[in-house]
Amino acid sequence: MKKNETRCFAGLDVGGTSVKSILIDASGNRLGEMVEVPSRVKEGYAATFDQLEEALFLLTKRAGQRRSDIAGIGLDIPAPSSGGIVRVQANLGADWVGVNIPDAFSARVGVPVYMTNDGNAAAAGEYAARPDSDDGLLLIAPGTGLGGGLVLPGGQIYEGANGLALEVGHASVPFREANGALPDCSCGLKGCAETWVSLMALRRRLGIELAKNKWQAHTLNAFSAPIEEKAYQLRDYAERGDPLALSLFFEQASILGYAIADWVRLFDPGLVVIGGGLAEASFRDQYMAWVIEGFEDSAWPIYLKNPFDPQAISTRFEWAIEGDFAASLGMAFVAGEVFG
Ligand SMILES: [Zn+2]
Repeated sequence: MKKNETRCFAGLDVGGTSVKSILIDASGNRLGEMVEVPSRVKEGYAATFDQLEEALFLLTKRAGQRRSDIAGIGLDIPAPSSGGIVRVQANLGADWVGVNIPDAFSARVGVPVYMTNDGNAAAAGEYAARPDSDDGLLLIAPGTGLGGGLVLPGGQIYEGANGLALEVGHASVPFREANGALPDCSCGLKGCAETWVSLMALRRRLGIELAKNKWQAHTLNAFSAPIEEKAYQLRDYAERGDPLALSLFFEQASILGYAIADWVRLFDPGLVVIGGGLAEASFRDQYMAWVIEGFEDSAWPIYLKNPFDPQAISTRFEWAIEGDFAASLGMAFVAGEVFG
C-alpha cells in the first residue's frame, strides 16, 4: 500500500527558453511546486538531459518525494516526433534528429518515458484541468507560430499515424494580401493559417499597415526600430485601445474563427480551447468575441446549437486555464495514463 501512496508522475515540458516541470500523484493531485529551469535544446539532447535531471531533482526535493517514487515521465518537445524519434530539427539542436529520445532518457534515469510534441502536451494539460468534462477538446494556441492539439473523449491525445497530426498552423486558409498575394510561410508553403494568425503574421501585417498613408502619424511610425520589436508591442497598444493594434488583432481573430469552423467540421470536438499568450491579455474577451464571430460566419448552424435543444451549445469556446504550465501538467497526466 505504501508504494501506491508515494508513486508519482513527472511532466517535463521542454521549450526553446525553459523547461517547465510538474509532479503529480497517482490521483492527479499536484505535488510540491512547479519547477522551471533554463532550456539548452540548441546545445543538443545530452545537455537537455542534464537540465531535465536538474528539474527532477528539484521537483522531488520540493515535494518531499524520492526519485525512486517517480513511476513514469511524460516529456514534450517543440518538434514533430513519431514513436519517440524526432523527425525534424525544428527548434532543437541538430543532434536530436533520428534519436529515440524517450529510450535514451529512460536509460539514463531508470524510469519509463513517454514523449510527444508541445501542442499535444498543452492540449492534454487543458483536458486534465477539466476533470468534470466528458468531452475531448481541440486546443489552438496562437504564439510565435500557430500550434494545436486534439484530445479525444476519454483523454487520449491524437498524434496521427506518424506523430504529425494537428499541424493546424499549416492548414491553408483562403485569405490574400490586398495585392492578391498569398503570404510565404516558414514551412515553405504559401497561405498557411500561421501566416495570418501568429506573432510572425503580426510582424508582416504591421509592416504593410504602417506603410499606408492612413497610419503615417501613428506613434509606431515615429521611431525607428525593427518591425519585430514594434510587433511585440502591439499587445500593449491593443490593451490601451489603439485602433491599429485592435484592427490587426481583429483580423487575426476573425481568420482564426474562420479556420476553426473548418477544423470543427473535421473533428467536432465540442470544446475549443484557445491558448497562447493572449489568454492573459486584458482585451481577451474582445478577442474571443471576434473569434466566435468569425466562427459563426462560416460554421454550419448545427455546430453552433443543437436544433432540438437550442439551449445546448454544440461548440463551446474557452480560454486556456493552465497558462505556461499546461504542457507540463499534460505530460504528467499522460505519464499517469500510460505508466500508472
Ligand atoms: Zn506553413
